Amino acid sequence: MLDQIGLADRLHELPHAKMREMRFNTPAGVYRMAVFSRLPTRFPYVMIMPQSRFLEFLIAEARKYPHFRIAMDANVQQLIEQEGCIRGVTYRGGDRQCEVRATLTMAADGRFSRLRKLAGLEGVSQSAPPMEVIWLRLPRKPEDSHEEGSINIGHGRVIALLGRVDEWQIGYIVAKGGYQKLKREGVGVLQKSIADLVPWLADRVAAIGDWHQINVLSVEADRLTRWYRTGLLVIGDAAHVMLPVGGVGINCAVADAIEAANVLVQPLRAGRVEDQHLREVQRRRERCTQIIQRFQRVMQRRGLGETLEAARPFKMPLPLRIVLRIPGLRDLPPRVMAFGVRRAKLERPEEFAA
Ligand SMILES: Cc1cc2nc3c(=O)[nH]c(=O)nc-3n(C[C@H](O)[C@H](O)[C@H](O)COP(=O)(O)OP(=O)(O)OC[C@H]3O[C@@H](n4cnc5c(N)ncnc54)[C@H](O)[C@@H]3O)c2cc1C
Repeated sequence: MLDQIGLADRLHELPHAKMREMRFNTPAGVYRMAVFSRLPTRFPYVMIMPQSRFLEFLIAEARKYPHFRIAMDANVQQLIEQEGCIRGVTYRGGDRQCEVRATLTMAADGRFSRLRKLAGLEGVSQSAPPMEVIWLRLPRKPEDSHEEGSINIGHGRVIALLGRVDEWQIGYIVAKGGYQKLKREGVGVLQKSIADLVPWLADRVAAIGDWHQINVLSVEADRLTRWYRTGLLVIGDAAHVMLPVGGVGINCAVADAIEAANVLVQPLRAGRVEDQHLREVQRRRERCTQIIQRFQRVMQRRGLGETLEAARPFKMPLPLRIVLRIPGLRDLPPRVMAFGVRRAKLERPEEFAA
């Protein structure tokens, strides 16, 4: 999508790492889960850069549009509602109370969405064993030349590794409550546990000094039955909280934004957005989201969940094992991870030229 609107080449000028492959290292063997380098695209890899840098880039590009305005550190408080129609929001900016009024309000406020609650929209839980992901970073050395990410599974634990330019981002996945247990046991236990499962990290686990360097996120999924109200559209995790499995949550959120752009540009130009337009955005995206959430749930329950809770050896779900063996099908997982179930594309990219 960034390529479609002419931003991909400029983005590549910023420092970044590339992940060309995602492997599952398990006691039963190595599975090349997603070989992105085989995908038919100009960009056959996952580009990894700090989110803050990427957002600064987007904001700088967006400022080229004469009507663009952004309020940073703005904390949305309330919806402005008139005669059953959402007309904007009030927000706190520093110690000031402000408001913004709009033909359409988009709620993209993530998995703890305040706006969806204020709008009274109901989520249906996508039950999967609750987990926590403990995030931390370790130094990346020049000799670690892997252009790959990995999920390392064994001894009742799962560790995801993503290569940034000069560090490894580590996601240590535990069953719910596991973080507090580890905290009680002490940082030494965490260091040893990482070194046991990924022995080549043993020479640097001492860099994990204390718990301030560590973030924890709990992982639960749900989906709204209705993504809109008159004047309000909910997209991204606010509409459907995604699990981390497959690293596709951001792509799903971006695909929602692309379809919203496809459907809404003309009605917005005309200054009139009807419920039918918002329903159409949901229709275009709902099925794809459901399929991905179902796949994530199976992987989380049958793969990771059993490994974590019962400390059983990890078993790659059978359908996936079959898919990964068949040449015509083995690129299905990286395809879905990269492009989603149906590739979302801007239908009229020229409309977005700055
Ligand atoms: C542990 C974990 C690991 C994950 N790993 C991956 C991964 O590797 N790859 C991947 O693609 N996905 C991953 N996901 C999923 C991914 O994070 C989400 O699907 C994705 O971030 C959704 O994007 P979003 O823009 O909808 O929401 P978010 O990225 O959550 O953005 C929401 C924004 O809204 C802001 N906000 C919230 N409330 C307010 C308010 N009241 N006023 C103003 N602003 C507000 C927040 O500050 C935030 O900036 C992971 C999820 C979890 C839990």
